[in-house]
Amino acid sequence: MSEELTHATIAELHGRLRRKEVSAVELLEAHEKRIDAVDGEVKAYLRRTPELARRQAEEADRRLAAGDHGVHPLTGIPVAIKDVFCTKDVETTAGSRILAGFKPPYDATAVARLREAGAVFLGMTNCDEFAMGSSTENSGYWPTHNPWDSTRVPGGSSGGSAAAVAAGEAVFSIGSDTGGSIRQPAALTGTVGFKGTYGRVSRHGLIAFASSLDHVGPFTRSIDDCATVLGTLAGHDPLDSTCFDRPLDLSTLNDGVKGLKLGLPREYFEVAGMEEGVKRSIAEAIDVLKEAGAELVEVSLPHTDYGLAAYYIVAPAECSSNLARYDGVRYGLSDPKAETVLENYLNTRREGFGAEVRRRLMLGTYALSSGYYDAYYLKAMKVRTLIKRDFDEAFQKCDAIVSATSPTVAFKIGEKTGDPLAMYLCDVLTLGADLAGLPGLSLPSRAEDGLPVGLQVISPQFREDLALQVGRAYEMASGVLAEVAPL
Ligand code: GLN
Repeated sequence: MSEELTHATIAELHGRLRRKEVSAVELLEAHEKRIDAVDGEVKAYLRRTPELARRQAEEADRRLAAGDHGVHPLTGIPVAIKDVFCTKDVETTAGSRILAGFKPPYDATAVARLREAGAVFLGMTNCDEFAMGSSTENSGYWPTHNPWDSTRVPGGSSGGSAAAVAAGEAVFSIGSDTGGSIRQPAALTGTVGFKGTYGRVSRHGLIAFASSLDHVGPFTRSIDDCATVLGTLAGHDPLDSTCFDRPLDLSTLNDGVKGLKLGLPREYFEVAGMEEGVKRSIAEAIDVLKEAGAELVEVSLPHTDYGLAAYYIVAPAECSSNLARYDGVRYGLSDPKAETVLENYLNTRREGFGAEVRRRLMLGTYALSSGYYDAYYLKAMKVRTLIKRDFDEAFQKCDAIVSATSPTVAFKIGEKTGDPLAMYLCDVLTLGADLAGLPGLSLPSRAEDGLPVGLQVISPQFREDLALQVGRAYEMASGVLAEVAPL
């Protein structure tokens, strides 16, 4: 009974809630039990919100009792929130010690939309500090473990959100993707992760990392659920000027891939460090799509090699500016013994930020400094335009692009922590879609030796429908579904 509740999809649970086979409070209790049983090993949650969840579940039951038809598909569904979304009156720290104790006075728009929909908030999930990382090992608190093998990382930076869904500790979750932080952990945990076009979901109240790259999106156990959550999160928000006002039409979700042209970018299949197992799983997935009626075409993204360098200039540059606000005066940590304001700034930032954040602040400040701006930031932005053009040209020849999401399966905890460059290489296949602002989906393809592999689908700007349609077609034809890890 309780596994049925913690291993199910939003769609299944919505049906059961509506048919009164289960109440929102019972659903919450099943999840609390599951979290109690497995989170000691997984460590997906930084903090839980049991009183809030209880109130929300009771309110959801009232809504469910009152109106059958007007009930939102997320009413009563337990969700986990990455610790980068301001959540009113709930401690929100972006995985950083510098924000310890910070309780935002308002909700991020994404959080507000889930709250209005009647979702039940289980708690805040672990992430790399300020979303900088690919493994959650840069969290200022502790690393999260992969539910499929607890000696391995769940990916990052939204590793806690991914692990929570993969471990049956939440029905769905939300995360942020600046260079792959939704898709890469989705790949490593066997979940569905998606970010839409830049500006599809409001970033108001998302603790900023790199503003020209930050995207918001869901983790779920099916493409159908992914569409439901994206539909709830999306939509114009006057509080985020980059959030556009264009309808999201996902009515073609089940139309299949017959007649669609899928592009295979040559460079994405030749990246350094691509594991044989990942290659095999993706080759099989491509065969499945072909058999389902897709036409495959080879395309080229010639500036792929420069993506990593451009991203690791643009993202640190923007974060060095965004993180200037953490100075010990307005939020979280502060040094009570400091004798001058400057000393307080310096001590707070030295104490409060971890090594990776400090590394990026230094790199970014350097890249933006007078005399270097043109050589680094401006140049990286020009490369970014070339990368965007590569995609534009590729989409002249195809409707969507498919590839692996990550060149490797989940790696061992500690394996890359001593080598920042090795960690940065995790993002080589995902950050292009962030630099170009395009929809990017990761869904599970056949696992290799019990470890999940992710299939990535990238679609043109504003065409989230195409990425999801391809993902749904693969899900139906392959029978490979996002499963909950046996813990
Ligand atoms: N791993 C990348 C980084 O460290 C991406 C992070 C993200 O998407 N937030 O910057």
